[in-house]
Amino acid sequence: MTSETDVAAPTLPKAQMHLVRPTEPVIGRVVSTRLCMNGKSASFVRHVAIDVSGTPLAKNFLVGQSFGVVAPGVDEKGKPHKVRLYSIASPSYGEDGEGNVLSTTPKRVIDERTPQRPEDDPDDHRLFLGVCSNYLCDLREGDEVPVTGPAGKSFLLPADPEQHDYLFVATGTGIAPFRGMAMELLDGPGGPVSSQIHLVMGAPYRGDLLYDDLFRDYAERHENFHYHTAISREPRGGSSRGIYVDGLIDEMMDGTFRSFLQSPRTLVYVCGLAGMQIGLFQVLARQGVGDGYLSIKDDDLAAMDPADWPRDKIKRYVRSTKRCMLEVY
Ligand code: NAP
Repeated sequence: MTSETDVAAPTLPKAQMHLVRPTEPVIGRVVSTRLCMNGKSASFVRHVAIDVSGTPLAKNFLVGQSFGVVAPGVDEKGKPHKVRLYSIASPSYGEDGEGNVLSTTPKRVIDERTPQRPEDDPDDHRLFLGVCSNYLCDLREGDEVPVTGPAGKSFLLPADPEQHDYLFVATGTGIAPFRGMAMELLDGPGGPVSSQIHLVMGAPYRGDLLYDDLFRDYAERHENFHYHTAISREPRGGSSRGIYVDGLIDEMMDGTFRSFLQSPRTLVYVCGLAGMQIGLFQVLARQGVGDGYLSIKDDDLAAMDPADWPRDKIKRYVRSTKRCMLEVY
């Protein structure tokens, strides 16, 4: 028997995978690089566009996939740096409309060293700079960059986008795929889709919002595109605290999201911080709109009030369905 969940599951396009392996990267060339925060921010996040024409990656990536970057040089053990994956931030037809230029949204990893293993020096708190993120952010227009991929076959827009409506939930640089998806749905070659699209973006401060101008512009120009921001560290509505993406969706459930999430057309995409899905799962279940998006693999948990679900049990027993796609790490 076919359940309603199966009927509403999206048909995804077939994605090309691992055309270029990490051991043999090909050379792309940076065509543009710019900061993409919303003004003042303590972070440095860039929009970096890379020309991959003439390589197997050209015309062979889809929005929602990732590609790899191999920083030159060797690590502390003298081994070549491992490949790092970055979410593609451009539509499937690329920044150039031809699928020859892809882009991503790297954030400089800047931290202090902290001991990770018992043998590490407990007093070592020197500056730590993430190797690949800083390599990518340092690159200038015209520089060569070793790339691999593409990777990922399940966090994709459906083959027929008009058949669905969309809830995109992002934290921080998890916005990358949604930039490309929104562009593809609203500015794609077939013209704007008529689907409803809600983007919920979480950031610490307003200055940390990424591609904010683009999304505000889309919200102004397309009445089917809705942009909601969840700012976690700024006081709001008389409270001294901010709000997370799941809290905002909870707050807006009755006015905006309940019937939207109950519709069998709707797909949910979640990208960003590992663990961000947990609060969202609880909100969906507690509000009674989890059907079609979640499956609970434990009878005790299913019988419990979702507000009381223990975190470890959520991780173990709550799974997202094909209508709820996750990219969190
Ligand atoms: P960021 O600027 O620090 O923003 C993250 C926001 O989410 C902050 O407002 C943070 O609030 C909030 N937050 C923290 N815990 C949360 C939770 N449990 N539920 C909901 N919101 C929560 O983010 P970032 O530094 O760019 O980090 C983005 C993360 O996304 C990175 O870990 C990156 O690896 C990941 N990412 C994954 C993919 C992928 O899987 N394809 C792609 C891109 C990025 P507070 O800090 O105020 O608590």
